[in-house]
Amino acid sequence: MAEQQQMNPEELLKATKEQCIFCKIVSGEIPGYKVYEDEEVLALLDIRPVNAGHVLVIPKEHYIVLPQVPDDLAERLMLVVKYLSGAVFEMTGAHGINVIQNNGAASGQEVPHVHFHIIPRYEGDKAIGEWVRKDIKPEQLEELSKAMSSRLKPLPKGSTRVSVPVEEETPEEVESAKLKWDASP
Ligand code: AMP
Ligand code: ZN
Repeated sequence: MAEQQQMNPEELLKATKEQCIFCKIVSGEIPGYKVYEDEEVLALLDIRPVNAGHVLVIPKEHYIVLPQVPDDLAERLMLVVKYLSGAVFEMTGAHGINVIQNNGAASGQEVPHVHFHIIPRYEGDKAIGEWVRKDIKPEQLEELSKAMSSRLKPLPKGSTRVSVPVEEETPEEVESAKLKWDASP
């Protein structure tokens, strides 16, 4: 782990790809319970489902977190997530569906290959814990809204390859967009 912290993004991508369980399923090296496949995207059953029919949607190419995914692939992934969320709804008779996507260990990501969870839910199943919320003042929301929106530009239609920050920003500008209060637990 200490070694991984020293790596640049490309090295980290390469190192994690070699051991990646989802890449091994894509290549056929180990089996997966596939439910959907096209040229770029694969969907499989989670082997430790929250409820039966819990599906994982993954790009065939190895990326660790969502911001790394090229825009055209991100569009494709979202289309498949939309399609399969409807299909899982119908096929399981679920009362609701969660679409969840974890990025980074702190968020609960265990497999370092970007994936969307599609989770069937039932009234009162208590399958996923309630979120712990924070109190925040309207002034703080106002300040944060201003700081964030000033750095975010509308994406051109059909476009792609836009990253944040959209323009070159000074370290002061980047700093000014950060949370102004202690958001840690
Ligand atoms: P995350 O915590 O968002 O990284 O979720 C990773 C998910 O992958 C977990 O829900 C695991 O149960 C699931 N998982 C791990 N190994 C496999 C596997 N070989 N086939 C299918 N799902 C897996
Ligand atoms: Zn992978």
